[in-house]
Amino acid sequence: MSSVLSGRNRKVQQTHESGAAGLSIITRSPEETFTLGVAIGSAAAPGTVLCLFGDLGSGKTKLTQGIASGLSVPDAYAVTSPTFTYVNEYPGRLPLYHIDLYRIASPEELLDLGWEEYMEADGVVAVEWAERAGDYLPERRIDMAITITDTDERRFHITFTGKHAAIEAALVSRTHVR
Ligand code: ADP
Ligand code: MG
Repeated sequence: MSSVLSGRNRKVQQTHESGAAGLSIITRSPEETFTLGVAIGSAAAPGTVLCLFGDLGSGKTKLTQGIASGLSVPDAYAVTSPTFTYVNEYPGRLPLYHIDLYRIASPEELLDLGWEEYMEADGVVAVEWAERAGDYLPERRIDMAITITDTDERRFHITFTGKHAAIEAALVSRTHVR
């Protein structure tokens, strides 16, 4: 099933396939990925944990920049992957905790880094390289597996564990079926 965004977002084309297995969304530019992030950030409820899986350059940080914008994090904050710390915190409608696990050596390291507090916080958490958390990922979360399908094209396969009604609705309702 294929559909495009309607109305003023018409130029942002995304393909959606929805079902028990999750939701697939194709973006065809960095800007479309940012816009996808905005939709998620706008709809996110306290305690939302977004786990991002995908190779270097797949768009995890670009998506997180959109999430920050959707959470009304002021533009003065440049959202980049945390480099020397493993988490950056940004103030917004809800606080955004942007975590990058690229540099952790083993999942056990997380326990010394306050991981469990972030997972239980009332903000929104976006985790790059989430696979590196091993068994420490919380049960209730949204997984986004990103595949580089072409130079400027990315496929997001999104699965929801637990209730995330607003985000699910936002991703689906922004489209209409052709
Ligand atoms: P990651 O954090 O996964 O390493 P980044 O978000 O930092 O990835 O970088 C993604 C790179 O891919 C950027 O250089 C961006 O311009 C490029 N790009 C090309 N097409 C897309 C797309 N559809 N979505 C996201 N990024 C894209
Ligand atoms: Mg990154």
